[in-house]
Amino acid sequence: MWKIEQLRKDLETIVNIDSGSFDREGVAAVGDFFEKKCKAAGFYTRRDPDTLALEVRTHEDGPIDILMLGHMDTVFPKGTAVEHPYREEGNLAFGPGVSDMKAGLLTMTTLAERLKADDPELRICLAFNGEEEIGSLATRDWMIQLGKQSRYAFVFEPGRDGGAMVKKRKGNIDLILKFHGVASHAGVAPEKGASAVTEMAQWIVELNKLQDLSIGTSVNVGLVKGGTAANVVPDYAECIVDLRFERMEEMEKVQKRVAELAKTPFVPNVTVDVEYQGIFGPMNPSKATEELIAKTNAKAAELGQTIEWVATGGVSDANHIAALGVPTLCGCGPVGGNSHNQKEYTELDTIQQRLELFYALMPELK
Ligand SMILES: [Zn+2]
Repeated sequence: MWKIEQLRKDLETIVNIDSGSFDREGVAAVGDFFEKKCKAAGFYTRRDPDTLALEVRTHEDGPIDILMLGHMDTVFPKGTAVEHPYREEGNLAFGPGVSDMKAGLLTMTTLAERLKADDPELRICLAFNGEEEIGSLATRDWMIQLGKQSRYAFVFEPGRDGGAMVKKRKGNIDLILKFHGVASHAGVAPEKGASAVTEMAQWIVELNKLQDLSIGTSVNVGLVKGGTAANVVPDYAECIVDLRFERMEEMEKVQKRVAELAKTPFVPNVTVDVEYQGIFGPMNPSKATEELIAKTNAKAAELGQTIEWVATGGVSDANHIAALGVPTLCGCGPVGGNSHNQKEYTELDTIQQRLELFYALMPELK
């Protein structure tokens, strides 16, 4: 019923195309593969020449019943596929991006083809992002536009151990802080200097005070740099802070504190530039999402599957869609592990399990 052999051949083909986020040719080649495949199946397709994003629809425009999202890019540099090409060992398939998330992309397209053939009225859209692994900065608005037209969204990131899916993700924002001080000789004229590093150190202490793990807020000053030599008062320092939160108010609280700190430097004559990058709203399951989860569980039970639901601090494109209030499930792809690592794998038998589950569920969501 499902052409799993063909799907595995296709998986081999696209895993063996390196498509790191910065490898535009590779990402475009994966896009070509899916565009050709979907066109042949009678879908409308659209490519964005700048972001390489591919949009595939059953209906040229208008509302969407089911939005399926995935990303074509991987974290692996060019050459990885030659060193570690696709291979199977028992029930496992290995290769760069096999589970995160090329197997998910093929699951999406296989499902959509069959659902379309069964019911031409069902309005499906597939969104292939080309830069998820670097934060979707240029494609976020496009996905949000699609999300606004959609009734339900499914993100085919890898399923977790035992088939678990993701219903809750923390929000995430990166904070880039650039401290500008005044350089001076540390021995001859220390009084003339204004240390950017000292200012940054105070900020690090203050920012860490905003962490509150009891409500899911974490602050990690993950990267720091500054200074040029031990005998020079440093005129520049920089740090990047990773903030994770379950509640939007927590992000606002941090932004407010950062604005206060910037107005009143600890070290006179130091100024601070504050930049925010890669905003992901928290994915918190709404009542409608809980209903979708209940439906999914019921369908799974009919098929003899049991789905666990997990929460994670990691973000995905699901955050952007869920933040709109659209019932959104993530981790819908086949089960995999060791993402972002050379030992990345997909459990091959779960491809069919996912196909069967969503094929039973999705037609009822019209
Ligand atoms: Zn991914």
